[in-house]
Amino acid sequence: LYTTAQRYIAGGVSSDARRMAGVPLYVDRAAGARLWDADGNTYLDYVLGQGPALLGHCPAPVVEAVTAQVARGIVYSAQHAAEARVAERLCAMVPSAERVRFNTVGSEAVHAAWRLARGFTGRPKILKFEGHYHGWLDPVLYSVHPPLEAAGPADRPAAVPGTAGQPEAADLVVCPWNDLGALSRLMDEHAGQIAAVVTEPVLCNTGAIEPDPGYLQGVRELCDSHGSLLIFDEIITGFRLAPGGAQEYLGVSPDLSVFGKAMAGGMQVSALAGRARVMDAISSGKVAHAGTFNSQPIGIAAAEATLRILDEQRDEVYGTLYARGRELMRGLAEAAAKAGVPMLVDGPGPVFQIYFTEAPAVRNYRDFAATDRAMMGRLHAALLDQGVNMVPRGLWFLSTAHTEADVAATVEAFSAALSSL
Ligand code: PMP
Repeated sequence: LYTTAQRYIAGGVSSDARRMAGVPLYVDRAAGARLWDADGNTYLDYVLGQGPALLGHCPAPVVEAVTAQVARGIVYSAQHAAEARVAERLCAMVPSAERVRFNTVGSEAVHAAWRLARGFTGRPKILKFEGHYHGWLDPVLYSVHPPLEAAGPADRPAAVPGTAGQPEAADLVVCPWNDLGALSRLMDEHAGQIAAVVTEPVLCNTGAIEPDPGYLQGVRELCDSHGSLLIFDEIITGFRLAPGGAQEYLGVSPDLSVFGKAMAGGMQVSALAGRARVMDAISSGKVAHAGTFNSQPIGIAAAEATLRILDEQRDEVYGTLYARGRELMRGLAEAAAKAGVPMLVDGPGPVFQIYFTEAPAVRNYRDFAATDRAMMGRLHAALLDQGVNMVPRGLWFLSTAHTEADVAATVEAFSAALSSL
């Protein structure tokens, strides 16, 4: 297997788990909160496909919906009834959603949102924040990892490392996060040119960082006074922090938001949702929105089954996610304290981050970049040896399939991994 992958797959492996440790993880199958590898090892999984498996891997209602849909058509590339039902449900769940368009992956939905913002306002520029990740398409890529260092200061690299160039970079303005003064200055400097400000409402790509109290309200006000749209990239936070995403969790409404990952139980569906007055630029044909696989029926069937559960069983689902997440956060912090390792654990709970640092808090990308990430890489490898799979940078995703016993076993494995370092 390893030799075949080395020979035929660019880079030799298709997954980044263990790559950092130099030992690839080949997944054989996944169910509930667990993964099995090709050698028969079992892992408690806190990567969950980078977030999508919020109900655990292969939840029965999603498997049933997908199986039933396969018999009714795998591709339509046309409108269908389930698409309208999912759009209706999504608009009922997400506070700022009045109209929806579906795509396949998150990067596409971000691209659609940025295009719409430019078309709607007639302005060229997008303002984004340091360390926030919005997908891997060239116009949205830079200031992200890998390499993480490219997510650094608010300057404009001439090109993304490893790409031919970055012609659109001139239309990107990059700002430090959690700093209203910096945002205000940049919006004044680019007055009349910024189509939209885009943010991860809770930063999850370089740490798991909630905005300072009042910060996003301030961002909302600055957008309104400058005539710029506010876009929430809820690809991670959507349906994970609350049925209505981070906008419900934090009580701030964007004009547009994008969803992906958790909305379809692991199937590939993303959504651009927003205020009718903006989204109607798509309806009127002023702004194009295309894609062969948009609203693909299997993904939509999975989204319908998933969103029904998240909506109708919200107390149970979110009660479990927060309880398990916070138990695990507490357990890991105690294990580190017992081992005498300076480690910070922070985040909402359904997703959280551990950092090796002596700092009392991590509040933005620059703080994150100052933590000991080499040590995190070693921990990642040591945890795999103990049967625990976390996102290599130290991020943990919870699912409703994780039990109290899983959390206890994870804390024990974590202590063993720390000692082995
Ligand atoms: N935005 C955010 C906040 C993300 O975390 C990601 C993926 N990790 C994306 C966009 C891109 O989504 P995808 O990988 O599905 O294209």
